[in-house]
Parts: sequence; structure tokens; C-alpha cells
Amino acid sequence: MPALLRPDWVFDDYTAVTPDFLRAQGIRLLLSDLDFTLAPKRVKDADERLRAWVESLRAAGITLVILSNNRSSVRVERYCKGLGITYVGHAGKPHRGGYLRAMEQNGETAARTAMLGDKLLTDCLGARLAGVRMLMVEPAGGARGPWQKVLHALQEPFKRVGARDTRSKDGKKTKNGAR
Ligand SMILES: [Mg+2]
Repeated sequence: MPALLRPDWVFDDYTAVTPDFLRAQGIRLLLSDLDFTLAPKRVKDADERLRAWVESLRAAGITLVILSNNRSSVRVERYCKGLGITYVGHAGKPHRGGYLRAMEQNGETAARTAMLGDKLLTDCLGARLAGVRMLMVEPAGGARGPWQKVLHALQEPFKRVGARDTRSKDGKKTKNGAR
């Protein structure tokens, strides 16, 4: 199994990625995909759950930056404005340019940065190429449409390896958290 497609951790949902977990890993900059990671694509604005999570990161001194491949910035901009966070649009994942740009803009090193996302071939591969750790989540709202379903089915074996590693790193399964 190619190491480039192996997430470091697999979680059911972004809320399982807590400030305590990130701080324990020495992560101070969290880059995150938007669609199907923080919200289903059809959801236009951040809900209370997402707001609370973003606020908890901020309170812990962890910077959150959205890294999006969306062709139009309208959706990402609206989301980020509402949450008071920045984004790197047209990130070109899996190319590492967007990751490096986000780190440079925030004065952080790869060792203190991680990527959160739902896709192996964009989010995870890009994280590997940029030398940052990868936190994988199940697609928010579930896989929709035939293409998404096929894609997520193909990702399963890779995620199982990541999930196994997550369990061995954590020593136990966390509630609603690491699988
Ligand atoms: Mg996504």
C-alpha cells in the first residue's frame, strides 16, 4: 500500500479532531478541506456545531485555514467570512503549492501542520507531498451520487490501514472519534 495514500489518523467526523488531540500532536496549523469534510456540499453556511468547533480551535491557539480546490471561490469565501478564518482558494490539491502557501502565510513549519480531509487522491496525497500529517474523516453527510460512492469505496482499504494505525497510536478507541 503506497505510503503516499496512507492517512496518519482516521476519524468519523471533524468534531473528533479536538484541540487537545491537536495540541498533543504539536499541531498548531490545521489546514482543512471544506466540501464533505466540514460540511456536505449542499450546505451553504456554517452551522452552530462547526462554529463551536472553530471557536474551540481558536481558543486553543490553533489556526484553521481552508484549502479548497473549488473552481469558484464564492462558497469558500462565504463560509470563511462567517467563521472568521482565511482560506487558500484554487489550492490545486494534490500539488503541494497550496499547502506551502498556507504554511508560509501563517509562519508555520510542516512539522507543526496537519491536513484534514475526506479524499485520498487530493487531500491526503497533497499532505504527503507537502510533508504534513494527514487526518482523514468520513464524508460529511455520507457519500452522495454514484461517483462519490465509488470513490469512497476505493478509499476504504487505505482508510482501514489508517484506522488501524490510529487505534494503535491512541491505544484505545475514543468515543465518536478515531475508528
Ligand atoms: Mg472534500
